[in-house]
Amino acid sequence: MQLSDKYPFLTNYFIQAKNSENYSVFQSLLFYGSDLQSQYDLALYISKLLNCENNFNEYCNCQNCRWIDSHEHPAVITVSKVDYKPADDKTKTVISINQAKMIKNSLTTTSDYHRVFIFCDKGNDGEILGLNKLNFQEETANALLKIIEEPPKNTTFIFLTRDKNDLLQTIQSRCMAFFVPSFEFESYDYSLISGVFENYFTFERKNVFDVAGELFELSNNNSPLKILENIQNYILSLIKNNGDNKQFIFKLIEDLKVIETAKKQVQLNINPQNVFEDLCLKIIK
Ligand SMILES: [Zn+2]
Repeated sequence: MQLSDKYPFLTNYFIQAKNSENYSVFQSLLFYGSDLQSQYDLALYISKLLNCENNFNEYCNCQNCRWIDSHEHPAVITVSKVDYKPADDKTKTVISINQAKMIKNSLTTTSDYHRVFIFCDKGNDGEILGLNKLNFQEETANALLKIIEEPPKNTTFIFLTRDKNDLLQTIQSRCMAFFVPSFEFESYDYSLISGVFENYFTFERKNVFDVAGELFELSNNNSPLKILENIQNYILSLIKNNGDNKQFIFKLIEDLKVIETAKKQVQLNINPQNVFEDLCLKIIK
C-alpha cells in the first residue's frame, strides 16, 4: 500500500506546502502515534518530495528518490543511538551530545541537496522505535535547540515518537506536530458506541449533554477507557473512508487529539461524566 493511499491527508498537506513554496512547513516536524514505521516512511516520503529531480510521485526513479529508498542518500540522515555515530563515540543507549555536534558541524558547509535529519530510536532488530527522554536526553536536545528553532536553508529536522510528551517540552514547542494514526492491526470495532455516537459530526450543539449522558450510561457496564477506544476506532474508520475530504479529515484528526486527552483524563481518575461532557463539548459544534 502506498503511503499516499494510507495517509492522503498528510501526504497532500506536504505536497501542497511544497507546491506553494511554503518552506516554513519543512523546518522542524514532530510525528507521533503508535505506528513508528509509518512515521519513518512518511519522513522518507518528505525527503523524496524535497529532493526529487522530477515532478515527484511515489514511483519516481530519479537518482535522489532511488538513493532515499535504499537509504543511501548523502543528505538524508537517520539519527539514532546506533546511526550517525562519530567513530570514537562509545555511547550505546542514547543519541549523544557528540552526535549533536557532528550534525551542527555538517551544517557549516553548504549542500546541493535538501538535508533531512530523521531522529528516532532503533530496536535490537533494527526496527524503528520512538524517541523518549531516556534515548534523547536533555543535554543532547539542548545542544540542538537553536538549529531546530531556526534550521539553515534547505534543512529539515523530523522527530519520531509515540507520544508527544515523550519529548522534552523545549523540542515539542519548536516543532510542527502531526499525529500519524496507526492503521495496523486495528479492528475498528466501535460496536459499543454505534447506537450513541455514530455520525456525531451531524449532532447539534444543543444536544451535547444528552450525548455525554448516553456515553456515561454506557460506562455502567463498560470501562470508560473501552468506550473511548471505541470512539477512537470509529473516527479512525471515518478517516480511512474519507481520504478525499480534506476539511473533514482535518476535523477528525483534531477530534482524535481530544479523544487522546480524554483517555489520559480517565487514566488520571477524573470523573468519567466530566470527561465525556468535556469531550462532547469539544467535538460537537
Ligand atoms: Zn524523484
